[in-house]
Amino acid sequence: MATLGTPGSTIEILKKYGFHFQKKYGQNFLVDPHILEKITAVSGITKDDFVLEIGPGIGTMTQYLAENAREVAAVEIDKALIPILADTLSSYNNVTVIHQDILKLDIRKLVEQRNGGRPVKVVANLPYYITTPIIMGLLESHVPLESITVMVQKEVADRMQVGPGTKDYGALSLAVQYYAKPEVMIQVAPACFMPRPGVGSTVIRLTCHEKPPVKAEDEELMFALIRASFNQRRKTLVNGIGNAQNLSFAKADVLSALEQMGLPPAVRGEELTLEQFARLSDYLYLLT
Ligand code: SAM
Repeated sequence: MATLGTPGSTIEILKKYGFHFQKKYGQNFLVDPHILEKITAVSGITKDDFVLEIGPGIGTMTQYLAENAREVAAVEIDKALIPILADTLSSYNNVTVIHQDILKLDIRKLVEQRNGGRPVKVVANLPYYITTPIIMGLLESHVPLESITVMVQKEVADRMQVGPGTKDYGALSLAVQYYAKPEVMIQVAPACFMPRPGVGSTVIRLTCHEKPPVKAEDEELMFALIRASFNQRRKTLVNGIGNAQNLSFAKADVLSALEQMGLPPAVRGEELTLEQFARLSDYLYLLT
């Protein structure tokens, strides 16, 4: 049985260890057992699963994960939390705590060593200051992943799941949708955390595709074009790509590609679907 997850049990641990929250690490600990149970349920973990948790804090969600998964590896950056985790997780023999910055950890190697390279499930109440680098790092490094179930700032969840023509649509939406199917699962109020964050939170599940829904000859080029198109949001796609430092396409070439695709010369990046970015990338790839 999980012993953590309420305000009372959290305060007890914080007092016992004289722990002070570090704002720079995005520390907002969950103190609502219903939310913890829901996250565990929607993550779909079973006793067959190897789970990677990012930022276990004092080990609250880790306890729920340990009870439902075969094995949990929890990566925590804050040194002050390591002895606390040794205490709160002492009754679980299927949890390993790794004291590391998740952005510096070789996750592929970890998954290779600990799960024989088979796909893992990621579950986390993420530190919001590095949500995008964590998600992009996981997706782009081609770590074998089945799903990523994460608590993120509400606005970021919105950006991950929208399509063309909306204000939230951008490079993050396209990257997430290239690698996974995003589904919003739970809305979480600030009162469910200690301390309370100044923003609303959402649990989103990304179910990773076995094969991307579109095929581009050169994936890297496609993402470079996507980033360039959204770098200068109010500019046309032709100007965005033409002005990008890391790309060397003439505006005339981009215009000709758009014409072949039946798109107007003044089209903006936010109007193109993932499929259209893949086609654009294939036209321009022929010129590289
Ligand atoms: N999982 C706990 C919970 O739900 O109560 C804590 C979640 S809290 C939002 C984010 C956690 O991520 C904190 O424990 C913080 O110290 C940790 N963290 C922040 N930056 C990190 C990084 N770069 N690598 C690993 N952990 C990090």
